[in-house]
Amino acid sequence: MPLSQTIPFDNSYAKQMEGFYVAWEGAKVPAPEIIQFNGDLAKELGLDGEELNSKEGAEFFAGNEMPLGASPLAQVYAGHQFGGFSPQLGDGRALLVGEVIDQNNIRRDIQLKGSGQTPFSRRGDGKAVVGPVLREYLIGEAMHALSIPTTRALAATTTGEKIVRNGFEPGAVLTRVASSHLRVGTFQFFAARKDTEKVRQLADYAIKRHYTELENSENKYLELLKAVMVKQAQLVAKWMSVGFVHGVMNTDNMTISGETIDYGPCAFIDYYKPDAVFSSIDEQGRYAYGNQPNIAQWNLARFAETLIQLIDPDDNDNAIKLATNALNEFPLIYQDYWFDEMRVKIGLADKKDGDLDLINELYQAMDGQSVDHTQLFRKLADALRGDEKTLFELFDDETGFKPWLEKWKTRLTHNKTDFKKIATDMDKVNPLYIPRNHKVEEALKVASKDSDYAPFKKLLDVLMNPYEAREGLKDYEEPAPKDNGPYVTFCGT
Ligand code: AMP
Ligand code: MG
Repeated sequence: MPLSQTIPFDNSYAKQMEGFYVAWEGAKVPAPEIIQFNGDLAKELGLDGEELNSKEGAEFFAGNEMPLGASPLAQVYAGHQFGGFSPQLGDGRALLVGEVIDQNNIRRDIQLKGSGQTPFSRRGDGKAVVGPVLREYLIGEAMHALSIPTTRALAATTTGEKIVRNGFEPGAVLTRVASSHLRVGTFQFFAARKDTEKVRQLADYAIKRHYTELENSENKYLELLKAVMVKQAQLVAKWMSVGFVHGVMNTDNMTISGETIDYGPCAFIDYYKPDAVFSSIDEQGRYAYGNQPNIAQWNLARFAETLIQLIDPDDNDNAIKLATNALNEFPLIYQDYWFDEMRVKIGLADKKDGDLDLINELYQAMDGQSVDHTQLFRKLADALRGDEKTLFELFDDETGFKPWLEKWKTRLTHNKTDFKKIATDMDKVNPLYIPRNHKVEEALKVASKDSDYAPFKKLLDVLMNPYEAREGLKDYEEPAPKDNGPYVTFCGT
């Protein structure tokens, strides 16, 4: 039975962007069942959650039944994957179902990920399985709770199929919500084909959708490059501040909107280590924790290349000069945002000379000390409340860190705010609960093996409220036991 609810679709991509997609349908699956439904997000989208969280809703979320007004399609894109260019990617296992205007008047895509093969599946089966679907649900919602721009999860639905991955695994579909699915790779697809008019159409669409303030700029395509640079600098600064490692920052996984997208082999660092890599296929450390700002700039350079013809159609050299000058600003723009993130994490309400050095010195003191990156900032606040012992315990040897602590405290006294108040403010921005890799793995394992979703639901609940200490959750604060060995994520999604 189709959904009785009418979803107020307003599908601009389907209507305005012919040639940028292929109209397509989901594969039929035997037995859709919703594992998790995001009622808060449904409300934000102006949808009737009760009606969607139902048997009919499950048929929709699994791709069996399209609601009235949907115009399902697979988007085309290209992308640099681990540095090598693939001219033909596209939604190989996803369908953009349509767009809705949310309660804040923002246009949002509703996409099904894992809904079957499309013309862009290459050798893939078009499917997704429970583990990775729940990982994307968990991490995406955790990022949202940490105020980090991200695509969201509206639902996770099993399909009743068994899919070949590591042996057979239960099939599932993620219903993903994004402020758009425009990627750097979408631009690359048309630029690689030297289709300047299509690149222009795409850029105009992106500006209208995400950067309306640029519509009347003198050189709106150069401004688009700069605006996306700023969004990505902000985003990566936030990732770095919480120890997030995306794991597969290919250009097809970088959005024009500035939202984090595609949670595959992602992870959070526990012990601070700039060269931390978790993905089994990232052998060179290209997407290591500390390399993410560089890679963002590299990806933005690929974006800039797609816009050259638009930036100055008559003078290529001039266009390249303008784009290069803009790109060269990235490290400083990034550093400013990173500084802003880090400043509040250590309780600095204002900026003074030497503050940036103070933050860098903190990281130097942490290096090689097996310090848990998340706990450190909570324990710094505890130190302001008089408990330095638990802070020191984070270090293998705290001797090198002690002078930093004194320097920091001296700096804080300049603001004449009492330490207790500073500590309270710090706790509001430094999470106590992050998606600990071992906790995520535990939850996904039993979900996939035994259809036991209780640990997933519990973890999701913990992560929805990351800052406030709650009773009985001590376990969720801790890094993986050291004897767990290194954490490795696999791209088998
Ligand atoms: P990702 O690594 O998830 O960002 O995906 C990279 C590309 O591979 C995209 O074009 C996906 O649509 C495609 N892809 C990933 N997994 C599958 C699959 N199981 N079947 C078909 N295409 C896939
Ligand atoms: Mg992707």
